[in-house]
Amino acid sequence: MTSSPPSASPVAVVTGAARGIGLSTTQLFLEQGFTVVMVDRDAPELERVSSALSGTEPLVCDISEPDQVTELARELTQRHGRVDALVNNAGVADFRPLEETDYATWREVMATNLDGVFLTSQAMLPLLKAARGAIVNIASISGLRASTLRVAYGTSKAAIIHLTQQQAAELGEHGIRANCVAPGPVDTKLALAVHTAEIRAAYHDAIPLNRYGSEREIAEVIVFLCSTKASYVTGQVVAADGGFQSTGVGLP
Ligand code: NAD
Repeated sequence: MTSSPPSASPVAVVTGAARGIGLSTTQLFLEQGFTVVMVDRDAPELERVSSALSGTEPLVCDISEPDQVTELARELTQRHGRVDALVNNAGVADFRPLEETDYATWREVMATNLDGVFLTSQAMLPLLKAARGAIVNIASISGLRASTLRVAYGTSKAAIIHLTQQQAAELGEHGIRANCVAPGPVDTKLALAVHTAEIRAAYHDAIPLNRYGSEREIAEVIVFLCSTKASYVTGQVVAADGGFQSTGVGLP
């Protein structure tokens, strides 16, 4: 099979793009002239959303499955031969303490949140090298500070922060930058599933801006970090959290 000619527009790959922060990031990349490869394991939703967004290409992939990620990279190599921006956004949440977290749940959270970022970044490396591209990994304020809940989620997000620093150290010589965004609470399906009324109220009180963030506010930071405006920024964690991280108040 012959390869497609290299893409004229820059190519962004966004995982977990079918909804939430990933979908908003996709829309912002489109506004900036990118071709956006939307990756998600939710095939019907991905197809539905992508068909309404010109300039996107849906690719169904469960990023926790090594074979599927290998196939994703093969497909991208054929279609584009480069990746200018890789946004490792797909994630799952579980808000339980150590004592109540069964091993299957621990593995499920780690498989997507941590293994998925490792697998996807590694598989995309030749494509990122070809473009001297940028990686943005999505962590969380839950990876910056411990809590009495979220043993699996928080640990996976803390590990993503270290993985980002590792990527920045290792890949700088190829002109590849790697940064991390640590969002505060955002009203997405993920948050709605785990934020109880008590957690919501506590966040509103503890966040200096006294509100949840929007998907767009997180996307703006992600796309900035991928852009040439951030060309000397690598290995950083940007907390997009309404000031929560600066307060020293514990996570609800
Ligand atoms: P969301 O649940 O609305 O969207 C997540 C998307 O990822 C879904 O479309 C889902 O199908 C996809 N996905 C999940 N596992 C996948 C897998 N293994 N392979 C491929 N696709 C998969 O969530 P969101 O709130 O938009 O979260 C996006 C990222 O932001 C996550 O990494 C999350 O941990 C992080 N985050 C969210 C919040 C928040 O309050 N919403 C706060 C901090 C960090």
